[in-house]
Amino acid sequence: MDCVFCKIVAGEIPADIIYRDEEVIAFRDINPQAPVHLLIIPGKHIPSLADLTEAESSLVARMINIANQLAVKEGVSEGGYRLVINCGEQGGQLVPHLHMHLLGGRQLSATLG
Ligand code: 5GP
Ligand code: ZN
Repeated sequence: MDCVFCKIVAGEIPADIIYRDEEVIAFRDINPQAPVHLLIIPGKHIPSLADLTEAESSLVARMINIANQLAVKEGVSEGGYRLVINCGEQGGQLVPHLHMHLLGGRQLSATLG
């Protein structure tokens, strides 16, 4: 499949992977928008939040839990951070493989775009 994040999961293109289990992997964004900018993704190819089935919804809860743990490890938990999932074209999603952004380490804008 021609999906950049599936290729990262498969090890076909390099990434700075900082977490991996049987369902979820996390790596640093190639174009960071904050001092800490991680992407937390399911290993399975789910195109977007809009494609998530009810049976898969616990995966997003796991992604949030892992993001919270990574925020502690990256030292941004106390100062605060933002988790974002863009969905679809108007939602600003560019990579069609479900992913959550973790942004922290600077004061983020109060506006949401
Ligand atoms: P989106 O706009 O789809 O929510 O965010 C996609 C994110 O993936 C962007 O922040 C972009 O910098 C990141 N990204 C795109 N291609 C790659 C890649 O090959 N490696 C890494 N590490 N990040 C990528
Ligand atoms: Zn994919």
